[in-house]
Amino acid sequence: MTEKIHCIGCGVEIQTDKRDDLGYAPPSALEKEVIICQRCFRLKHYNEVQDVSLTDSDFLKILNEIGQSDSLIVKIVDIFDFNGSWLPGLHRFTGKNKVLLVGNKVDLLPKSVKNQKVINWMKKEAKELGLKPEDVFLVSAEKGQMIQEVVEAIEHYRKGKDVYVVGCTNVGKSTFINRILKEVSGEENIITTSHFPGTTLDIIEIPLSDGKALVDTPGIINHHQMAHYVDKRDLKYITPKKEIKSKIYQLNEGQTLFFGGLARFDFVKGQKQAFVCYFSNEINIHRTKTEKAQELYDKHVGEMLTPPRIEQLDQFPKLIKHDFTIKEAKTDIVFSGLGWITVNEPNIQISVYVPKGVHAMIRKSLI
Ligand code: GDP
Repeated sequence: MTEKIHCIGCGVEIQTDKRDDLGYAPPSALEKEVIICQRCFRLKHYNEVQDVSLTDSDFLKILNEIGQSDSLIVKIVDIFDFNGSWLPGLHRFTGKNKVLLVGNKVDLLPKSVKNQKVINWMKKEAKELGLKPEDVFLVSAEKGQMIQEVVEAIEHYRKGKDVYVVGCTNVGKSTFINRILKEVSGEENIITTSHFPGTTLDIIEIPLSDGKALVDTPGIINHHQMAHYVDKRDLKYITPKKEIKSKIYQLNEGQTLFFGGLARFDFVKGQKQAFVCYFSNEINIHRTKTEKAQELYDKHVGEMLTPPRIEQLDQFPKLIKHDFTIKEAKTDIVFSGLGWITVNEPNIQISVYVPKGVHAMIRKSLI
């Protein structure tokens, strides 16, 4: 058996096979005297955190460590996929530690949306999901919006403690930390990367000026996210890159919308009304009669109704039907990781189809 090698920066076991996984180092790195994983290498040399993903048991290990620590927790979610990126178990592990909740990618929401309204919505949702954050922020890590405010809140709430940043993959955690590093370096140096301590877990500690650390935990994969079922080349169609423009469909009962070949929406019963769709501008929405929908799907999935790609069809999960009765005005029908439809009039019946494994749900309207 070959001897296990550990990264001198974060303590993770080194492997040379999988680039995107924890502990990756290029084979040439093994010949060096001091062995360091690629993620630590990038932080050390480029002042940049690299995104890697974590298995569920690694995640539990880290949650346990967070629970036992005396720290401030910064939890990041993707506002475009709030429920899909939530990390449901976290509040059971936080212990007495305070939590700041950060909704990232606010630049994707239509400009007409009032940020304070979304923040209030996040507070309510968080409470219903069992988390009571000290404060809630809506930021764009990419554009730098509201980052300074979060940095100040972190300083205010941490009171000399370590800070753990958690979030599932793709919420923009690396972009967020890199943005913070940029924002504070040169100024008062709240965060400095001048020294680089060894730790014992698969996490990176970025030293703070008072000897404490900002701890970057690797991203947790959330298996219910649509992104896992789409070919890597097609991610650009489902993940919006800029402000989403809502598309409005006036539908009668008995009408259906397809979102590429990834999801389907049936208006089963109710008065004619407007359905406001919030999806990536790149995704193709196709309207048809419900009675013809299955036939259309079977015939055209992978071609007119794409993604998925035709060569992917034998592995692509079956679309599973979920029925909902909408009882309240202003309700969102959420296709996890793909988008949502806002319904303004109550008392209707609808059906939603998403790939097996992906979540579909209804929630109080975000916008
Ligand atoms: P991580 O897996 O949580 O570390 O996420 P990354 O930082 O790698 O970001 C995941 C994806 O989200 C990338 O394509 C980023 O460009 C994108 N992203 C990150 N922050 C923002 C943001 O504020 N706005 C938008 N629109 N995209 C973002």
